[in-house]
Amino acid sequence: MFSEEILKLGTKKSTIREIFEYGKKRASVVGKENIFDFSIGNPNVPAPQCVKETILEIVNNEDPTLIHGYTSAQGDDDVRESIAKSLNDRFDTKFTKDNLYMTVGAAASISICLKALTNVGDEYITFAPYFPEYKCFVEGAGGKLIVVPADIETFQINFIEFEKSITEHTKAIIVNSPNNPSGIVYSEETIKKLAKILVEKSKEYNHPIYLISDEPYREIAYDGVKVPYLTKYYNNTFVCYSYSKSLSLPGERIGYIVVPSEMEDFNLAYAAICGGGRVLGYVNAPSLFQKVVGKCATATADISIYETNRNLLYEGLTKLGYKCVKPGGAFYLFPQSLEADAKEFCKKAREKYDLLLVPGDDFGCPGHFRLSYCVQTEQIERAMPLFEKLAKDYLK
Ligand code: PLP
Repeated sequence: MFSEEILKLGTKKSTIREIFEYGKKRASVVGKENIFDFSIGNPNVPAPQCVKETILEIVNNEDPTLIHGYTSAQGDDDVRESIAKSLNDRFDTKFTKDNLYMTVGAAASISICLKALTNVGDEYITFAPYFPEYKCFVEGAGGKLIVVPADIETFQINFIEFEKSITEHTKAIIVNSPNNPSGIVYSEETIKKLAKILVEKSKEYNHPIYLISDEPYREIAYDGVKVPYLTKYYNNTFVCYSYSKSLSLPGERIGYIVVPSEMEDFNLAYAAICGGGRVLGYVNAPSLFQKVVGKCATATADISIYETNRNLLYEGLTKLGYKCVKPGGAFYLFPQSLEADAKEFCKKAREKYDLLLVPGDDFGCPGHFRLSYCVQTEQIERAMPLFEKLAKDYLK
């Protein structure tokens, strides 16, 4: 007999995947150019030249038994040192290789942290709108996910609801900024307030409440907005990073966890991360791509196209009457749907206009829909008249 819970996860696709698959099928009928797919967050900008050059240089010049061989479970020493240095240069931190654990993208980073932390009865809090996979990751580790409702005016943290949801069972808070799906970047004020509450509540319940910072979109921020580096505000922070978006390498599955030395019982915390990686089989992230990101630690793909797309979509849609909080980063827009039921709204957009949008319900925020704009700018330009027709169906 299989595990019922796990079987359910394997059988039912996520809504995003279902819409994406629908688009592929529909494209075979009406042609790819007539489908306006804003469903999935697959970067459409190529990895930077540095990635290609580094791969070739490594493959042509280095010992193949080392390129493809095992590294230390927590990752190659030189790679971790190089990433630590790049973080220190950018964020004025003091990391060394001993603060880093190389992983297989952000999904693995989060799962390892949860595995390292969870005891029976533990609860994790996150803020709507949130990345739906958190529920799988938390429940997979044996924890319970508590979702704080969104502040839909700003998509910053709804602190009144947050404080009500913290209990003696709270093990950690999962934050994601720049955010998928709202695109919002948490301000420094938000982070300071969050850190203050966590310090107070850790004291009250006499155990640390950790922060898990899921930040695959860190570098994708616009208008010079600063994305605060959370270990500088709260010592008990695990940073879960991925190169999927910043270097456009989602298929290569590479990222890392930072465990800052200031964390309470640092040595035990780092050992627990190693244990989490071991139990989940996430030891030794892919060797070749460890080396690549070690050498391209300061590079990013050309993310300027995302800003162009954000401006076009945000300005275009708000002019048409859609209501939306202006995103400061990532590559998502999260407007209000034009009818209360976002699922019905997205169904209409899909079936009448071939606009593939994702309802906010799965992100814990009904009445909204997500547009992923890591697409060709020309797709947005051609989609605008359809968004106009869709708006006219409602805003007569
Ligand atoms: N966290 C968020 C908020 C994401 O949007 C994604 C992917 O889209 C992930 C985690 C997973 O990233 P990775 O591909 O690095 O596992």
